[in-house]
Amino acid sequence: MIRKVSSLVLLCFLITTVSRGQMKTLSVGPLTVAPGQVASGMIEIPAAADAGTRIPITVIHGVRPGPVLGLIAGNHGYEYPPVLALQRLRAGLNPSELAGAVILVHVANMPSFLGRTIYTNPVDRKNLNRVYPGRKDGTISERIAFALTHEVIERSDYLVDIHCGDGNESLRPYLYLPVTGRTDFDAKTRDFALAFGMDHIVLDRERPTDPQASIYCSTTAVTRGKPAITVESGYLGGIDEVSIDRLVRGCLGLMKQLQMVPGAPEPVQFPVYLDPYEVLTSPATGLLYPKVERGHSVAKGTLLATVTDFFGKILAEVRSPFAGIVLYVVATPPISQGEPVAMVAAVKAP
Ligand SMILES: [Zn+2]
Repeated sequence: MIRKVSSLVLLCFLITTVSRGQMKTLSVGPLTVAPGQVASGMIEIPAAADAGTRIPITVIHGVRPGPVLGLIAGNHGYEYPPVLALQRLRAGLNPSELAGAVILVHVANMPSFLGRTIYTNPVDRKNLNRVYPGRKDGTISERIAFALTHEVIERSDYLVDIHCGDGNESLRPYLYLPVTGRTDFDAKTRDFALAFGMDHIVLDRERPTDPQASIYCSTTAVTRGKPAITVESGYLGGIDEVSIDRLVRGCLGLMKQLQMVPGAPEPVQFPVYLDPYEVLTSPATGLLYPKVERGHSVAKGTLLATVTDFFGKILAEVRSPFAGIVLYVVATPPISQGEPVAMVAAVKAP
């Protein structure tokens, strides 16, 4: 009997070893990561028409088979809770308890992060989250997008592009759920979104469908057939604990839903779907005076902000085009004509 048991143990050990041996390594950028390993390194973006840069990434490769989840922070470099949330996830995820793999992009837009710029990369003045899938021979933002598309998004089965209110934006938490019209895909993406645990969900119907002109980071995944969402938590260049923790818990919720980590998923029970939404822009250049706060409910016609000239004379008013919720409002004075002032979204009837 003892001999039989020990033979069984040996057999189990051999099967486990063989199956682990058969699990493939995962290669991302400069990293080749075996199951059970964690590795970090830099994707190098060489100098071309303009300066080069580096993208810090981590790959956590689980011991059991499962999906690959891509998590990208720092497409906008002045948005800090996403960057801090991914450092916490890196420290907290154990590959010996993980199924599948997680690819963390710690800071997608390093020039914007170190240069402390809102919206754009300080080298080419382009918004990284408007140039996907990028160009191999383009300017720095386009080369970053190209590398992330091919090294991270195309290697992932699911993707989360993690944002917050930029340095000038007072934002309440919400996420963008893409709606493609493809029923099965949309249902899969909706379940993925609900598992993140944020209850304010913007239905996003107007995204590109051409994979070669996807423009946005998460749309680059969607146009390649991968469920993806964009999440927003945090505001005004701050690093408040609640916003960071919401992102960490959200990512862990997704991993539970995908059975990558132990634990029961806790999807949102009563989502507030928001549809349509509109980003209001400034008709003038000068000083912005916000008249509402993030999360406020507004009626059609509610004054959202005024714009004055540099001496105090009112140049323009920005009003809500319909009744809804203020998801974000710009809350610092500088404003240029055409820049966003606020985003309002209508609550969709159940
Ligand atoms: Zn952003």
